[in-house]
Amino acid sequence: MTDPAPATFRDLPYARPDLDSLARRYAEELAPAFRDAKSADAENRIIETWNGLRSNLGTSEAIARVRYKQDTKDAAAEAENAFFDAAAPRMEELEVLFARTILGSPRRSEIAERWGPQLIRILEARREQFRSEIAEAVAEEAQLGSRYTKLLAQAEIPFRGESLTLSELARPTQDPDRATREEAQRARFGYFEAHREELDEIYDRLVRLRDGMGRTLGFGGFTRLGYLRMTRTDYGPAEVARFREEIRRRVVPLAREIRNRQAKKLGLAKLLFHDEPLHDPRGNPKPVGDGAFILGEARRMYHAMHPDLGRFIDLMIERDLLDLESRKGKSHGGFCSFFPDYRVPFIFSNFNGTQHDVEVLTHEAGHAFQGYMSRDARVVDYFFPTLEACEIHSMSMEFLAWPFMERFFGEAADRFRRQHLAGAILFLPYAALVDEFQHEVYARPGLAPRERKALWLDLERRYLPWRDYGGLPFVSDGGLWQHQRHIYASPFYYIDYALAETCALQMWRKAESDRPRALEDYFEICRVGGSLPFQEIVRRGRLVSPFEEGCLAEAVEAARAWLAERE
Ligand code: ZN
Repeated sequence: MTDPAPATFRDLPYARPDLDSLARRYAEELAPAFRDAKSADAENRIIETWNGLRSNLGTSEAIARVRYKQDTKDAAAEAENAFFDAAAPRMEELEVLFARTILGSPRRSEIAERWGPQLIRILEARREQFRSEIAEAVAEEAQLGSRYTKLLAQAEIPFRGESLTLSELARPTQDPDRATREEAQRARFGYFEAHREELDEIYDRLVRLRDGMGRTLGFGGFTRLGYLRMTRTDYGPAEVARFREEIRRRVVPLAREIRNRQAKKLGLAKLLFHDEPLHDPRGNPKPVGDGAFILGEARRMYHAMHPDLGRFIDLMIERDLLDLESRKGKSHGGFCSFFPDYRVPFIFSNFNGTQHDVEVLTHEAGHAFQGYMSRDARVVDYFFPTLEACEIHSMSMEFLAWPFMERFFGEAADRFRRQHLAGAILFLPYAALVDEFQHEVYARPGLAPRERKALWLDLERRYLPWRDYGGLPFVSDGGLWQHQRHIYASPFYYIDYALAETCALQMWRKAESDRPRALEDYFEICRVGGSLPFQEIVRRGRLVSPFEEGCLAEAVEAARAWLAERE
């Protein structure tokens, strides 16, 4: 395998790409040369050059995006981020030119043989999702997404004499003291209330823009375009709707049982919204050390798990490819990025002293390790798979780390595992809710902001029937979804987590009964990377597709039994 470049993240060179000369090279050199090529060999050489250019461009963008999210108040970083927002349509245009040119070849089967048939599927999806008529809308969409990111990143919320970011505020929302929890949620959604109009306006504009793009492309609305953007090549909205129905039938009853048990454990007659984050009257399990401690333990854990994981974590630490702690001005959330030219991943998170720190690190390390294992991928499109498959790597890693939880949580490790599994079950209905909400929103793009909130509350009653906001402002009116970044920035990217969780639960069961086999399957799907579509990756991991009848029911029964045994 290739050795990743020996630089730290800080030292990675960055220069704003020259899109004019790149566009000329695509249009005047590469595309005509490809069309004139007389053999598959000649075509493949051009694809290789092209792949190199796409790798350069993708690397520049990934570096700019990460550096901006590290400090949204840095004007130079903001300018580079804005450059890529504005460049989004031109970059799409370049990608589409690449896709059209290659798909126009009479030797597609030889191309598929050299690069894998998944490249053809990816290019087909890409070809359909852009025409120059939507260029302006694409740029505006990116700008609106960045406006939303900035609005949330720069929140400085007064709370008991301190000024907290949204990530930092997550900690008091799970305080054992009920009044503290409620006050924290009031402070949190007070910020949203203060920006109500802007949040509504950004989303309303996004929905109308996306609907318009879908119509311009001849899809009659956004949904089909949304699926194409997610490169969902082996299933569609009908399969996803059936999967949501399975969640409603199979998972919601167990989720309700878990909530009832939680209320009893907390000694509450009625579990309110601000009680939901607390699972134990003693407080949720907390890591027994700070961020540096967690990282040190993670390093030992990965060395103990497998030599490849050990090499991977050493690389991440030695090359400074992690930014874990929360800071003012740093964008909220956690994600994993990848720099194709250097063949290294990057992990971004916001540690806040809760169990979340361990979860986010194992989760993002799952993504990053898969990228690391796929670093010799033939084309840039294969470094990561489509997102529902990506999340199998991350969520399975959270479960594969279970035997090591004593290192992070000490005596509370068992409580952590219980809560983690319960959390996985509780998450599924929420993910289905976010997904159905978006399908409804894009099916009825003319809804007013107020009507969208009513729709959310309506769906919430079906998926989270226990939910009671206890009169908490903003969320009582149906505004909760406005804190969910995906709904703004990555439409339809959410059910992916539920599809992947369904696979990760299978990986959990396998690891409980046969850990070596589970690890073997895990490494296999990491190596596959993005070279196959979702359901084929699932098969390579010897897992059952979430779309198969009964798949979810089995996982849910296993979780129910495991949890009942340990109550
Ligand atoms: Zn993830």
